[in-house]
Amino acid sequence: MDFELNDELLGLQAVVRRLAQDKIKPRAREIDLSGEYPQDIFEEFAAADLLGLCIPEEYGGSGAGILGLTLAIEEVTKYSNVLGLMLLLTRLATGPLMIAGTEEQKRQYLPGIAAGTSRASFCLSEPGAGSDVAGMTTRALADPDVEGGYLLTGAKCWISGAMQADWFVVFAKTGDPSSRHHRDIGCFIVEAHQDGVSRPRVDHKMGVRGSPTGEIVLDECVVPAENLIGEEGKGFKYILDGLNAERTLIAAECIG
Ligand SMILES: Cc1cc2nc3c(=O)[nH]c(=O)nc-3n(C[C@H](O)[C@H](O)[C@H](O)COP(=O)(O)OP(=O)(O)OC[C@H]3O[C@@H](n4cnc5c(N)ncnc54)[C@H](O)[C@@H]3O)c2cc1C
Repeated sequence: MDFELNDELLGLQAVVRRLAQDKIKPRAREIDLSGEYPQDIFEEFAAADLLGLCIPEEYGGSGAGILGLTLAIEEVTKYSNVLGLMLLLTRLATGPLMIAGTEEQKRQYLPGIAAGTSRASFCLSEPGAGSDVAGMTTRALADPDVEGGYLLTGAKCWISGAMQADWFVVFAKTGDPSSRHHRDIGCFIVEAHQDGVSRPRVDHKMGVRGSPTGEIVLDECVVPAENLIGEEGKGFKYILDGLNAERTLIAAECIG
């Protein structure tokens, strides 16, 4: 097995290293002190084509894959964990979409992430369900007015980028909310600005400041059938498949 990086990945690593030294190193402490979302660095990442590293080229990304994103995160995190997270978040919500989304969903949602014209959040955790994913109580009931549609109700917490997101990937129980069966969890795309969605709270954290987390509340939020990701009862599988790649990215943050 060859563990050497190819020329393309070495080039990417060098570009990100330079950007991190020039733009991130001088800003990192200030971001941590103020806790403000670093929009200026988001724009630097967009200009350097770093927001679509894990997104395939046919959907507007650069197709550098998880390895490319891992290298970039490692370089950025040498100076700022928060900005490494900013790159990591380009994969968190798009993961389930790339794994199980339809062609239409990928074409509609992925190019904006790669270009930096839209942002997305991954909405799994709840006040009573962190590690215990099966304990989630957000539910997706059949919409009586729309064939195949859903009404989502519940609250998600600790959601990274909640306030900046244009759309969410939300996990919800499609069967009995008290069920602990993995087959009762579905995965949905929810538009952030639609009726029934509110973002009442930003968390005041001790660390990882500048990567705001917050609460998202869904109140009979209308979700059309075409916003279901993959199969209805496969949400738990998409959570695990998506998070498996994230583990490598978190490791890169730790090494950086
Ligand atoms: C900065 C930050 C950003 C985040 N961003 C997101 C996001 O974008 N989207 C999202 O959905 N969530 C997000 N989260 C939430 C995060 O994923 C949860 O915090 C995580 O799932 C753990 O849940 P919890 O905090 O409720 O802890 P708990 O599940 O209550 O765990 C607390 C401790 O108990 C241990 N523990 C739990 N269960 C057991 C058990 N059965 N046996 C032994 N030990 C156990 C855990 O290992 C842990 O040490 C974020 C959290 C943080 C801090």
